[in-house]
Amino acid sequence: MKHVIVIGAGLIGAAAAYSLGRSGCRVTMIDAAGAGGLASRASFGWLNASFHLDVPHFHLRHAAMQAHVALSQEVPDFHDWPGCLWFEETGPQAQSFAEGLAHLGYPTARIDASSIRARWPLLTGVDEAVFLPGEGAVETPGLAMALCQRSGAEVWFGPRVRALIERGGRIIGVETGEGRVQADAVVLCAGVGTPELIAGLGLRLPMLPRPGAMVVTRPTARITDTLLCGPMGEMRQTREGRILLPTSPGHQGDSAEALTQTPGDLARAALDRVRLFFPGLALEVEQILTAARPVPADGLPVLSNPLPGLIVAVMHSGATLAPLAGQAVADLVTNGHCDPVWDRHSLDRFQK
Ligand SMILES: Cc1cc2nc3c(=O)[nH]c(=O)nc-3n(C[C@H](O)[C@H](O)[C@H](O)COP(=O)(O)OP(=O)(O)OC[C@H]3O[C@@H](n4cnc5c(N)ncnc54)[C@H](O)[C@@H]3O)c2cc1C
Repeated sequence: MKHVIVIGAGLIGAAAAYSLGRSGCRVTMIDAAGAGGLASRASFGWLNASFHLDVPHFHLRHAAMQAHVALSQEVPDFHDWPGCLWFEETGPQAQSFAEGLAHLGYPTARIDASSIRARWPLLTGVDEAVFLPGEGAVETPGLAMALCQRSGAEVWFGPRVRALIERGGRIIGVETGEGRVQADAVVLCAGVGTPELIAGLGLRLPMLPRPGAMVVTRPTARITDTLLCGPMGEMRQTREGRILLPTSPGHQGDSAEALTQTPGDLARAALDRVRLFFPGLALEVEQILTAARPVPADGLPVLSNPLPGLIVAVMHSGATLAPLAGQAVADLVTNGHCDPVWDRHSLDRFQK
């Protein structure tokens, strides 16, 4: 039986541990912060392929959505599939957005003003939209903790991994503040902590600075039963009635705003944007979750096996990609290769 160390108990590490456990490996998970991750704890959890950088990226995300559907059968209670009402743009731009997705085989429907009034009666000023019925949301830290538990992994929460131990060109274990652990393979799912750990091996992983903040309101009467994505940004309402608002009107692009504003400023601005579409809506902020998003410099995931005994898996949009990434990690550890959909995501691209 192979013994594998997974560094990081966020959703990517948890998904990797889960798939490794199912592949018959003995897993030890190490996380300095504990279960649930850092970015994973602050995540909006939107499961989608509509936000994509290019066609292969679309297919990766779409395959990951299907993997989530399968995972939700095995690990219930954390997924919802209500679909997303998209009204970021109108007219020809909305048409080309919808046609582009439909062309890729993504379920898409144009919705007119009367249908919008009927299903989203409190939403104001939206006369046309695109509905994406296959999209959903995941309660990210909850799923991460459930996957850790079901992986059968031995967990070691608290110690920080200081270095990876290399012998003869192979990674054979890790060094923590509380001692060394040896294993047949080490899987590095440390999010934004990854570049520092691989730098000691002479490997580079440049990342984009992408601080994120998630506004969580107190539970309120239901205003939407679907995800919404419009000029006010993305929002959704949890089963308990809380509204979740990433604090940027653009996808994954809140670095400049987040760097110059306090979390309180960000929350006020986010609520003001929501009130443009839900006039008079009284919302009370319950908490603001902040975390750095792990985004490799070209925006695409990293998932590869750069050295014998070492797998690296770092990515945004990790809430969406996690189950597919977890399976790929397990395949790399047990078979030495994984689904070709990951071929272009090697860490090698940053070593030139
Ligand atoms: C505000 C926000 C909104 C988002 N919205 C979405 C979305 O809607 N859809 C989507 O798909 N994705 C979204 N994402 C991205 C997604 O949440 C992340 O890609 C994903 O959570 C990354 O998971 P991870 O396990 O790699 O990282 P993390 O959750 O950050 O976990 C990494 C873990 O590694 C541990 N660690 C790091 N270094 C060490 C070390 N040296 N020793 C021991 N432990 C270490 C940390 O303690 C941490 O627990 C969002 C992210 C943010 C912040």
